[in-house]
Amino acid sequence: MPEAITAATRLCGIVLHPAGHTRSPAMHNAAFAAAGIDAAYIAFDIPPDDLPDAIAGVRTLGLAQIAVSIPHKEAVMKLIDDVDEEARRIGAVNTVTRREDKLVGSNTDWIGSNRALERETELAGKRAVVLGAGGAARAVVFGLIEKGAEVHVLNRTVDRAERLAQQLGAKAAGPIDELADLDHDILVNTTSVGLRSDESPVPATALREGSVVMDAVYDPETTRLLRDAADRGARPLGGKWMLIYQAAAQFETWTGVDAPIEVLEHAFDAAGR
Ligand code: NAP
Repeated sequence: MPEAITAATRLCGIVLHPAGHTRSPAMHNAAFAAAGIDAAYIAFDIPPDDLPDAIAGVRTLGLAQIAVSIPHKEAVMKLIDDVDEEARRIGAVNTVTRREDKLVGSNTDWIGSNRALERETELAGKRAVVLGAGGAARAVVFGLIEKGAEVHVLNRTVDRAERLAQQLGAKAAGPIDELADLDHDILVNTTSVGLRSDESPVPATALREGSVVMDAVYDPETTRLLRDAADRGARPLGGKWMLIYQAAAQFETWTGVDAPIEVLEHAFDAAGR
């Protein structure tokens, strides 16, 4: 946030429901301050029925950028002027940026997932398994395939996994218990299992030594899946990195300036205390 809000300060924000305790305002305001950008970022709790009015408000009030979170990522696509190619293929928008007088949708979850995984491994030619077939799964699968990985999609509801795999060009789909039979280099959990609970979507015995195991869940920061991965000799990677890099891509989309990753990480950590 700037030291003083003036007539020149631009406003950004996040629309979601319920607002809960999103860490996005803390992260983006810290990044704006560190980069000397005169902007402020706040959270808007918008129930689904109010989304059209909220987007009309974004237009009228001239907000520079809004992040779009659960449950609005699909519904927002019909309310804006343009959706970029990647977001259209993923089928979800998590970022709306003003370009002159138009609102343009994009998706930075796939960029966040790729950049997070690339902290630990290259992606081209790797065998990846993605657990889940919801919005986060679509972005993660898209990102992995863009980088040349071979992807299996496993989900509780198998026909959702099959549809996703077919639409995005994944190699195969199946039920979650297939993991035990699949050789893999990378495992990503995009189910909500583990979110504010001590459960894992898979038994520890299905995890492979040496593989990279990323959990999209970041609350708690160290999930049961990540603890099991460490115990089995796999390389755990917390969902905080996917969140940080998707926020960094949002920041870069609007400002054109490289995002200060350490500042975003520090703000994420501080907001969770
Ligand atoms: P979503 O669209 O609602 O999808 C939820 C997924 O979880 C579905 O595949 C669902 O399976 C599965 N699931 C739910 N309960 C389950 C259970 N008890 N057992 C097995 N599978 C279960 O949600 P989303 O938007 O994809 O988000 C999923 C998670 O990713 C959330 O925890 C979210 O916070 C996290 N996320 C993190 C980031 C990040 O930057 N780190 C970004 C986006 C999302 P069915 O199809 O069978 O219902």
